[in-house]
Amino acid sequence: MKIIKCRDLGFNCDFMATGSAAEADGVKQKMMDHILEKHLPEKEMSDEDIEDIASRIEILLSRGCGCGAL
Ligand SMILES: [Zn+2]
Repeated sequence: MKIIKCRDLGFNCDFMATGSAAEADGVKQKMMDHILEKHLPEKEMSDEDIEDIASRIEILLSRGCGCGAL
């Protein structure tokens, strides 16, 4: 199970994207879609900021799935 919270990325927002481990790419995509749709207009983020968020999503998704395989 993969879960990523908007809050973990520094937004004051309760959105979460979830999916099975096999769907990690889909979870990332859901999160990016949400950020681009909801937070891009309010934060005026640069391409660099977006890339930074994308890499943080990768890190968050690659760790701590609870299966013990760190
Ligand atoms: Zn959000």
